[in-house]
Amino acid sequence: MNKNKIKTEVSSTAEPGASQTAGEDISIFKKTAAVTDETEQTVLREERREADRAAKQLKWERRMERKKAREAEMRREEERRNAEIRAVHESFMREALKEAQKAADLREVPIGCVIAKDGKIIARGYNRRNTDANTLSHAELNAIRDASSALGDWRLEGCTLYVTLEPCQMCAGAIVQSRIDEVVIGCMNPKAGCAGSVLNLMQVPAFNHQVKITKGILEKECSHLISSFFEELRSGKISSS
Ligand SMILES: [Zn+2]
Repeated sequence: MNKNKIKTEVSSTAEPGASQTAGEDISIFKKTAAVTDETEQTVLREERREADRAAKQLKWERRMERKKAREAEMRREEERRNAEIRAVHESFMREALKEAQKAADLREVPIGCVIAKDGKIIARGYNRRNTDANTLSHAELNAIRDASSALGDWRLEGCTLYVTLEPCQMCAGAIVQSRIDEVVIGCMNPKAGCAGSVLNLMQVPAFNHQVKITKGILEKECSHLISSFFEELRSGKISSS
């Protein structure tokens, strides 16, 4: 409603001969116009506030959409990286399984190990405890000995050890002592494993070296190899030497 319309309305109510004087008419007009002005300003202010709120909401929604898109891209990138790392782990674990098969062929508990550095296998080992009549002849210790020969150093920094079964306390100790960076495990050994099952000797904060542990790489294959060995042993198809 504009001022002219108000003016007309006010004039039309101020009929000649009415009780109000001309001064009173002007006063009513001024008051009415002032109220109308104020109402219009309030409406305009409210409209501006509403427009501001809508603009802010839109801006916020667009910012959130961009944030979600960035997060989704980061997740996809991480998944791609993890898939690549997993593929590398699986390829080295297949080599460790080949070592485990060498133990099985000797009727030893089939545990195999390889040690990789800079993307290449530098050492291999498998369980030969009975064959060598030596308690130290576990797959991991044989591989560590092989790696130290290859590098000419007892320190195996920068190396990753792949083993088909969770290491025992002796091998976990040797892994920490040799300063291997990471151990990748096929299947866990709830009764004797020392990478978290019975103990976690690889990540004792008080020791001067902790080892990164990755579990469950080709877990089914590694587990099947061990369980089928013990099934055959129980059924008498093979005998432990
Ligand atoms: Zn061991």
